[in-house]
Order: sequence, then structure tokens, then C-alpha cells
Amino acid sequence: MMNGDEYIRSLQAMKTIVYINGQKVSDYYSHPVMKPAVNTLKATYDLASDPELDSDIHALIVTESDLTGGRVNRFLKILQSREDLLARMKLQRAMMRYTGGCFGGRCVAGAVINSLWSVTYDMEKAGCSAPYHQRFRNYMKAVQEQDLAVSGNITDAKGDRSLPPHRQSDPDLYVRVVERRKDGIVVNGAKLQQSGAPVAHERLVVPTSALGPDEEPYAVAFAVPGDAEGVVHVNDSSCINAKFEAMDHEDIGNATFGMHQSAHILFDHVFVPWDRVFLCGEWKPCRDLVHRFSDFQRLASSSCRCGYIDLCIGAASAMADYNGVSSKSHIQEKLIDMSVDAETIYGLVAGASAHSTDTASGVPLPDTMIINAAKIYMNDAILRTAQKLADIGGGILVTRPSNRDLRIPKVGDLLRKYHKGRDGIDVEDRLKMARLCESLSGLASMTPILSVIAAGPPATQRLNFRLMTDLKRDRRAAERLAGIAP
Ligand SMILES: Cc1cc2nc3c(=O)[nH]c(=O)nc-3n(C[C@H](O)[C@H](O)[C@H](O)COP(=O)(O)OP(=O)(O)OC[C@H]3O[C@@H](n4cnc5c(N)ncnc54)[C@H](O)[C@@H]3O)c2cc1C
Repeated sequence: MMNGDEYIRSLQAMKTIVYINGQKVSDYYSHPVMKPAVNTLKATYDLASDPELDSDIHALIVTESDLTGGRVNRFLKILQSREDLLARMKLQRAMMRYTGGCFGGRCVAGAVINSLWSVTYDMEKAGCSAPYHQRFRNYMKAVQEQDLAVSGNITDAKGDRSLPPHRQSDPDLYVRVVERRKDGIVVNGAKLQQSGAPVAHERLVVPTSALGPDEEPYAVAFAVPGDAEGVVHVNDSSCINAKFEAMDHEDIGNATFGMHQSAHILFDHVFVPWDRVFLCGEWKPCRDLVHRFSDFQRLASSSCRCGYIDLCIGAASAMADYNGVSSKSHIQEKLIDMSVDAETIYGLVAGASAHSTDTASGVPLPDTMIINAAKIYMNDAILRTAQKLADIGGGILVTRPSNRDLRIPKVGDLLRKYHKGRDGIDVEDRLKMARLCESLSGLASMTPILSVIAAGPPATQRLNFRLMTDLKRDRRAAERLAGIAP
């Protein structure tokens, strides 16, 4: 298995084409916008190779491969039991708590690998003449032996969302086969919004939706290296990127890991040799494929957000302490609510894993209803968490002076003086934690935090109700109705 430095060298050895904000960047792995994604993937290699970094994560991330008989990073493991699903859930949460960043360049692959493994197995057992499962088995064995990071590529461009692939005015809006050759196929199209794709070695591509009989060219699954001819990556242009380019490291808040990076992958007539083609024209199995990878990915992302809420609880509780309000009841209640959300999601994911059903290949499928309930619950819980974090942290999350301001002679000292929290807390620590809270809340566009905090935090509005609700009147009415008072 590779360590983190070997992973970086392996990226350097590739000729992956990456554009960032209009520029082609050859050493993209060192670019400030890409660095958090590189660091997060590097952490998956470091934690696997060095038990001393975090022995709990090490024990989760290193496992045995049924394919090679050797050790393998759990992100590449073919799931074979409920315990595997549960271990994956625990790993996602622990990795997120460790980094606060996205390791999508490895994690999404788990969904694609396990769905493709089980579906090609079913096809083989049903008598499919093409040796898709054997090819995928060979491919996965090589990937595991080389410990490669695989990016799972599902989402097509999709054009008019109300139309299926074959009725789009531009046929390339879903990735498709444009030529079948003796030695392989040629594909065209794009996969958009791919988490961590440029920092992974391999692109593993599957259709994004169930398909019909007119859609054989779209029923294609294949793998190519990230630097295959005709593959181009264009990084997303989220406005958060600008922060990583313009601001001092200390001013970013989780500068090491804390930015989700995604890229659009353009496939411009890319040749794929047959040994890397795992589905070509068989539209019927795509329904199972889509169903399975969706549920696997919902398990991964829901588990991951539990770790994110853990971090938000930690940051909010530190901020409350620095501000001298950690024992206030409304702060305690909010921290408890955040914790309830994390454990509710975790419980649902554990329940979906415990109620899994085995496919013929032995890959267990999480319970569909429960895992989708986990994802739906998580969608709202993460927004509630951000709001509570902003509420507990205060306006300083978005208004704190920059580190450069703190270096202005005299003014810097005054800023420190006026940003002090409770006695005994270093003002620099309070400022650092405010930045982490800002980053974790994801609300740095000002308006959401401004709306929660400005004109007074929610507890001050609630105070009015404690003081002004006419409890005497309401109680009199209730007691009269109950026949207790006249
Ligand atoms: C940061 C980020 C990272 C991502 N990482 C990955 C990744 O690693 N790999 C990957 O494959 N994908 C990835 N995705 C893609 C993600 O899976 C898609 O964003 C998601 O599937 C929604 O697709 P969309 O963004 O095109 O939204 P749209 O499809 O445009 O949806 C917008 C709205 O339209 C509605 N809608 C769309 N079609 C229909 C319809 N036919 N009928 C009724 N309503 C409809 C939707 O319900 C939604 O409300 C990522 C996305 C983001 C934002």
C-alpha cells in the first residue's frame, strides 16, 4: 500500500489535464485551490500506512482483500458482509471528523465498485456472453495491488432534465459509445461535478439513470486513467476558491483540508480498450446499477455528515467556552440537539446496514427505505447544524479581522484587545476557532449568518416570549376548562 508521499509522487508522474479558473495548470496538485483535496486524499494513504497518526482510523481503513489476499485500503474493498457495511460507515464518520474535508476522490468509488461488481456478477450468472465480471475482477485486482485512488463518475450533463438521453437535442449530453472497434470502444460526453476527480488516478464511469431499449449507446461502464488521451478536467469555480487563492493560510479556517473540490470531466472521443469496458449496450441491468450505487452512496454521505456534525459540535462548544457562555442552558440545548441529529443519522445508517440483503455476488445492499430516510434526514440536519453553529459562535464568524489586519501597527493590538473573550482564553485561539466555525458552517456568504445573528441572536428573541407570553391568562383559561377554577 502507498503512503502519502508516494501518492503525491504518483500524481506527479501522471499527465492529467486540469484547468483551474481558465488556466491549464500542470502542477495542479500544488495549486491552492486543489491542495485541500490532495491533502485529504493523502490523509487516506497516510492513515493507512502509519498507525501512529490515529490508531482507530488505521484499524478501520486497513483491511483484507478477498481478491489479492493482501492488505487493502477499505475504500477499495469489495463489500462481503454487514460488518463491511458497518465498518465503512464508521470509517466515513471517523475520516470526516479527522479532516473536515471531502475524500470524494476515493469514497464515491465504493458505490460504483460495489454496484458494478454485483451487477456484472448477476449478468454473468444470467449467461451474459461478454466477460464483464471477469474483466472487472481483473481491473479491481490491479487497482487494489497498486492501491490506486478511483473516482466514481456517475452524473452526466443531462441537458433537458425532462427528456431521456436518446431524446436530447445533443446526443452527447449523456456519456455514450460513438464507435465500437476491434480493440475497444470510443466514448464521448461529460461527467459533471465529480468530487476530487483530478486527484484520483482512475476514472470509473457508469450511467447516471435507468435506460430503455433505444438507449444502448448510453449503457456503458468503463475505466480510464485520469491522464488518458482526450480526458480533460475543468475545476469548479465556487467562490470559496477565491478565498484559498487570496487569503493567508491562517485566515481560511481548516486551510489544510477544508474545501470540497469537484471537477467537470470532458471525454472527447476517448478510446477505451475492451479489458476496461464493463458494460456496453446492455440497458436492462442499468436499473439495478443505478439503484445500488445510489443507496451505497447515500450510506457513505450520510455516515460522513455524522463526522461533520461531530466537528461542528466541537467547534461550537469551544466557541461557547471562549465566549464564557458554555454553561448557559440554551447553548447546552443546542449542542444536545446537534448531537441528537448526528446519532439519529448514524442509527439510521446502522439500521440500513443491519437490514441489508445479500446479492448473489455476496455484496450486501443496505435497506433502501432506511438509507434513503437517513439521507433525507441528513439533508435538513446539516442545515440545522450550520444554523446552530452560527448562532452559538456569534457574528465574529464572518466579521473577524483578518490576520493582515492584526499585523497593522497599534491597530492590530487594539483589534486583539477588543476581540478578547473570557479571561484565560488567548484571543488568537478565539479568532482561529471563529474561522473554523465559519468554514464548517458553510455560511460564509454573510447573509445566512447575518440573518441568524444580526439584530440579536435567537435566544434574545425567545427571551421576549418568556417575558411577554401571558401565562396567567392562558393558565386561567386552561384551569377553567378543566373545571379546576371558576
Ligand atoms: C459538490 C458536488 C459534488 C459532487 N460529486 C459527485 C461525484 O463525485 N460523482 C458524481 O457522479 N456526481 C457528483 N455530484 C453530482 C450530484 O450527484 C448531482 O448534483 C445530483 O445528482 C443532482 O444533479 P444536478 O446537480 O444536475 O441537478 P438537477 O438534475 O439539475 O436537479 C435540479 C432540480 O431539478 C429536479 N429535477 C431534475 N430532473 C428532474 C425530472 N426529470 N423530473 C422532476 N424533477 C427533476 C431535481 O429534483 C432538483 O430539484 C456532485 C455534486 C455536487 C454539488
